[in-house]
Amino acid sequence: MRYWNEKSRLLLTLELAVILPAAALVFLSAWQLKSIQRDRSVQAAFQRDFTQMLKISEKQMNQRAYDLTDDIRKQLNASGPTCTQTLDSVLANSPYIVGLYAYGPMSGLIFRGQPSRMKDPRFWHEANEFEESAKKWAPAEYKDQVEMLEEMEKKGNPYHFYLNTVMRDGKEVNEPFSMFLTKGPNGEKVLAGFVFDPDYLYKQFFPQMLDEAVSHHEEKDEKNPVVMMLRTRNDYTPVATSSGWDKGEPEVERDLGGAFPGFVLAIKMRGTTLAAIENHFVKTSFLTLAAITLLLVVGLVFTHRSVAKEMALARLKSDFVSNVSHELRTPLALIRLYSETLEMGRLKEPAKQQEYYEIIRKESERLSSLINNILDFSRIEAGRKEYDFRETDVRELVRTTLDAYRYQIEQSGFTFEESIDENVPAMKVDREAISRSLLNLVNNALKYSPDHKYIGVNLKHRNGSVELQVVDHGMGIPREEQGKIFEKFYRVGDPMVHNTRGSGLGLSLVRHIVQAHGGTVTVESTPGEGSKFTITLPVDSAREKGLAVAEGA
Ligand code: ADP
Repeated sequence: MRYWNEKSRLLLTLELAVILPAAALVFLSAWQLKSIQRDRSVQAAFQRDFTQMLKISEKQMNQRAYDLTDDIRKQLNASGPTCTQTLDSVLANSPYIVGLYAYGPMSGLIFRGQPSRMKDPRFWHEANEFEESAKKWAPAEYKDQVEMLEEMEKKGNPYHFYLNTVMRDGKEVNEPFSMFLTKGPNGEKVLAGFVFDPDYLYKQFFPQMLDEAVSHHEEKDEKNPVVMMLRTRNDYTPVATSSGWDKGEPEVERDLGGAFPGFVLAIKMRGTTLAAIENHFVKTSFLTLAAITLLLVVGLVFTHRSVAKEMALARLKSDFVSNVSHELRTPLALIRLYSETLEMGRLKEPAKQQEYYEIIRKESERLSSLINNILDFSRIEAGRKEYDFRETDVRELVRTTLDAYRYQIEQSGFTFEESIDENVPAMKVDREAISRSLLNLVNNALKYSPDHKYIGVNLKHRNGSVELQVVDHGMGIPREEQGKIFEKFYRVGDPMVHNTRGSGLGLSLVRHIVQAHGGTVTVESTPGEGSKFTITLPVDSAREKGLAVAEGA
């Protein structure tokens, strides 16, 4: 009962100290993973990063466009009053624009197309259309635009961009054009601007900017680099992409302002989607968590087992102490009683005297065999047990050992049978250890055969091994106990066993001795019918051959 209390207390402590925190940790992690999955936190983190990248790219693109515009305005301001010649000279210096215009209420509208391109009839037509429409909106909006640009200039950005849309091959093409103020003749405020060359924008400017924008990210993830594209607001097909853009939905988009109104910048990862990355992350995290939980459970099962084993061993040890004390006290009490009786000299009958002497001898033999067992056991436990292997005639060894006990066995009312094969070869064994093993087995047969008193000892040479068997017709051992009886301190929980003196050391010693000889010890037993213990020792095969040759010769 106490044992159970101790065990359950220990296990409870183990559970509280280990299982509870571990389980809490596992649940917490699982819950966190679940909430990551639910809130799409991984995707959100990436999206924030992407939004930031888009913002920066937009800024860079605008900055570059403003720099180009700055350049044109400077050239215009430097080349004197606006007229067709000054516009032509600026156009010649600026291959990235296709048209340049200037409008002042006094000077009127001047529009010049890029001379090299004007030979192309399609382009000439587009330029013409732009000029025609400018002729209408420039005078109409002059006042408002000048006001707005002056206001903007005060704020630090003197450029405004509009979108001119032309049809090319049945498709709308966006051409951003700029607007800013320059000085005309007589200090007149002139509205001026240029039209970006769409070829330059789509084939050079945008791809270059997009590549630059994603290049910072590339080292981070080589397998799935970040890619970008640009589209117009009402068309989902890209007009320019960074290198490596693959098809698929963009993860985040941004409507551009500044120099590129009407354009949308989009970003994603090549070869994957954020949802897939998140799924993969959640899946691997769950798997890792499951693996950790499994390890934890396995660890706990092992700990549980070893604690249970230690507890059982502790119980066996305490039983052992009481068994051994009992074992020591009984023979000592008998020896004392009988020797005192003899000492007083009251016993006259020599036969009675003889009987008392015999009891004293038997009890002291029992004492010394118990003490030998304990000493052997403590040497084995301390790893100090040494064996003295010598060439030995095993037949003679078994015979001599049994001879010393034959009388005692028969006196106890046992039928004793001994069968020793003559062809058993000489072997290298520790005489004393093997003899002690045999005695332990015989002693057990004596102790655990209350009714049917029979002991048989057989020594055989079979299949390259020597077998030493001790057979009894005693109480037998239940099948589930048969594996445990060879463990130290273990005794079967039968009341009959409990009332028989013993320490639970005998069989564990036998097993140790036999294993030290490279052999095995096994038991076959049926409760109520008896047991057969077999010690199998290997015969050195080289020696066996030599023996066969010698016998043959
Ligand atoms: P013990 O000192 O208790 O005899 P052993 O190690 O020799 O210790 O044996 C362990 C247990 O195995 C015994 O307590 C007994 O229950 C069982 N046992 C051993 N030999 C026999 C046998 N010949 N018949 C029945 N039970 C046996």
